[in-house]
Formats: sequence, C-alpha cells, structure tokens
Amino acid sequence: MTMLADDQTAAAVLAAVPCYPVPPVGRSPTIDALRDARAGHGLAIGNDGVMLILRRPWLELDVPVAPPISCYLPYGSIGGRRADLRCGLIPGDHLDHILDHFRAALPNEEAAFVLWNEVTREFAVHLPVIDEATPSRLVYRTPGLEPDWHVVCDIHSHGTGPAFFSATDNTDDADATKISLVIGQFADPNGPAMAARLCAGGMFLPLPRNPFSGDLRCSLIPATATIFPLSSPIA
Ligand SMILES: [Zn+2]
Repeated sequence: MTMLADDQTAAAVLAAVPCYPVPPVGRSPTIDALRDARAGHGLAIGNDGVMLILRRPWLELDVPVAPPISCYLPYGSIGGRRADLRCGLIPGDHLDHILDHFRAALPNEEAAFVLWNEVTREFAVHLPVIDEATPSRLVYRTPGLEPDWHVVCDIHSHGTGPAFFSATDNTDDADATKISLVIGQFADPNGPAMAARLCAGGMFLPLPRNPFSGDLRCSLIPATATIFPLSSPIA
C-alpha cells in the first residue's frame, strides 16, 4: 500500500482530515463514509472544485472552499452545496423564551445557548453565567456540556442596537462549529431582528433560513455573514 506520508505525525494529520479525488461516477465508498460520519471533516476534489465535507452529530455541511479548478481533471463532480440540520429545526417556543429573557435584561446585552442531545434528540435552552453585561458589552461563559449534548446555537443580544456581527463577535466565533445569532433592535416597532451565520471550518457562512420553527416574533436579516461571502446561499 502506498503511504501518503512517511512519518507518523504527518500520516495521522492526513488521516484525520482526508482528501479524496471524486471518481467519474461522482461517489466512492470513502467519500460516502465521510458524508455518513457522525463527526469529522475532509475534502473531496472534483473536476469542478474542492468540497469541504464537515459533519457533526447535529450538522451536515458540504461547501465548496475553492474556485473551480481550471485544468482538465478526469474526475467527477463534487456535487451541490448543502447545510442541513441533522437535529431538525429548533422549536420556536425556545426562541420565545430567549426573546423574553433578552427583553427582561434591557438595556443590557444578554446571552443564551441552544443545546441538543444526540441520544434523546431533545433541545434545551442554557442561560450562561454572565461575567459582565452593559448596553454595549457582554462577557459570558460557554457551557460545560454533559455527555451527548452539543451546542447548536450561541445567541446574544445587542439590546436596542442593530443586529450585526461585531469585530469582537468575529473573534469569539472564529474557532467554533455552531450557529451564531445576534438579536437586536428590541425597541423597533416591527420587533427585534436577528443576524445569523453558520460558523464552521474557520469560515462564516450565510444561513439560508431561520433555524427556529413556527411563527416567529423575530425577523432574519438575510446575508449577514460577510467575512467569507459565498457566491450563492447555502441550499
Ligand atoms: Zn455582538
């Protein structure tokens, strides 16, 4: 068998984040295994680009991470981009609870997490320990998680200020895999608004729809992920 690397550390890195050419038929057992994995990530290289395939118990993300390859390759297609919630949409009641909590904290900013249990498939709202809260600054702690629980959403308010991702928010979100939400404009007569993005693979990706189900009291500001804009929304 041909080795991809001749030292153990390098081989371990390549095994942890594998890179597979796409056969002309468009699929292979190894790429299927990457797509079916409970968690992990790797790359598929096709004649039309490079696809990051990233999995978490709650998330299936396939996103092109390079422009189409200009040379001829006898490979198949990487396929379409997708971002699907394995956990399903979050019950809208949880958003109502979070909005009430944020409103009660005005004029200060507030925070909440949406957690999901991959065994029982239940969602829960976690209200974190707040170290510092003012109308323009918030310091809060990421929850310690019990087994089987995952952070799906990290949410904070900007009080009556606009819903957008600040430079501080960008730093806070840089290394995580999560949905990041900022809710602001609490004094707006049309109700609060929500900026949303998917943080994954060190990128900020647009979220095509509100991750909560039901009739919502909070509108989604479209295309609020601006750091690495994609050519088209994730479908
Ligand atoms: Zn913020």
